[in-house]
Amino acid sequence: MITYEEAHTITKQYKPEKDIEFIPFMDSLARVLAEDIKSDIDMPPFNKTAVDGYACRRVDLGRELIINEVVPAGQVASGPVTEGRCVKIMTGAAMPEGTDWVFMVEDAEEQDGRVRFTGKAGKDNIAKLGEDIRVGDTVLKAGKIIVPQDIAVMATVGAVMVAVKQRPVVGVISTGNELVEPRHKPGPAQIRNSNACQLIAQVTRAGGKAVYYGIAPDDEEPTLNMLSKAIKECDIVLLTGGVSMGDYDEVPAVMKKAGVQILFDRIAVQPGKPTTFGVHDEALIFGLPGNPVSSFIQFEMLVRPMIMRAMGADTGCEFRKHKLAGNFTRRRTRRLAWVPVLINDDETVVPVEYHGSAHINALPGAYGVMKVPIGVGEIKKGEIVDVRQI
Ligand code: AMP
Ligand code: MG
Repeated sequence: MITYEEAHTITKQYKPEKDIEFIPFMDSLARVLAEDIKSDIDMPPFNKTAVDGYACRRVDLGRELIINEVVPAGQVASGPVTEGRCVKIMTGAAMPEGTDWVFMVEDAEEQDGRVRFTGKAGKDNIAKLGEDIRVGDTVLKAGKIIVPQDIAVMATVGAVMVAVKQRPVVGVISTGNELVEPRHKPGPAQIRNSNACQLIAQVTRAGGKAVYYGIAPDDEEPTLNMLSKAIKECDIVLLTGGVSMGDYDEVPAVMKKAGVQILFDRIAVQPGKPTTFGVHDEALIFGLPGNPVSSFIQFEMLVRPMIMRAMGADTGCEFRKHKLAGNFTRRRTRRLAWVPVLINDDETVVPVEYHGSAHINALPGAYGVMKVPIGVGEIKKGEIVDVRQI
């Protein structure tokens, strides 16, 4: 049995190699930039007023000024501004020729086409040409996971097609004679197949393209057929169930028959011990445990980082430091424990009520899972723990 850190080190050596594709920037949310984005313009592209007010010459601030005209954003003044004169100007409009100052509407008294500055001269209220971005500046760097703020930057610099890595294709196979699809009411001794749906959602959230192959019965042949097809069609294949010690747990044997070289089949973690990982020329294969909480957590710890790496990101799967809200104890310490936790208003974390790896409804309210290292049986209130947000 290997440790989580060893399992992580092994899986980290593998990722699907994906080509770069160019996609419309509006479709790029949550993808990973494959090339730097540079600006084709200066921003602001001209000196513009940052406030609604009056554009004039600074030297004229002390006197009453004649208002030449009103200039809204998107228009330019009809002529230069000369001594003793000003232009009433709206936020975002270009500074008229001859002006070097804008005073705000709030600091002005206007009457009969004339205006007087009533405030104290502080700053000029001008956003200067190129003060935010210069032509040719790199505004977004390759490797960045694209968020809505990036979309705004892309729009600003006219990056309407952007380079991203193709999304890895991730196949999902459930195994188990007891499983029925969620639309069916389970009969005696049956349960609904929640893992496949959960994994498809996890793959999608991580940015992968999920392909569902269905439920394989606990028989070698149909499972092998499904797995072989998935290996041909996908970059990563996820099986759930059938990896523990039961008489019908045939997934590792089926993986071998499909030509998969198994690199590990046990990790010293709880939950998720029987997690299996293997490689094939055409795909990377995970045998995840059948229990839904185990499957969920092992995906987050090992599969999600692999999908993110395939997409070109080496961030997005960090642990955060939190203080524990109360004392934590456990009896057995031979495995690393992943414990679902809530977060309090003061950012401390506390274990959720959790009955074990089949307790699927323990997760929706959880903020993350806390790492309890091997050998650690007690963590005191106030001590710092590593938490992976889920
Ligand atoms: P296994 O790893 O196949 O021995 O399954 C362990 C436990 O997880 C059993 O109680 C299974 O019924 C349950 N289980 C297996 N697959 C799924 C699934 N796709 N959805 C929900 N529960 C499952
Ligand atoms: Mg099973």
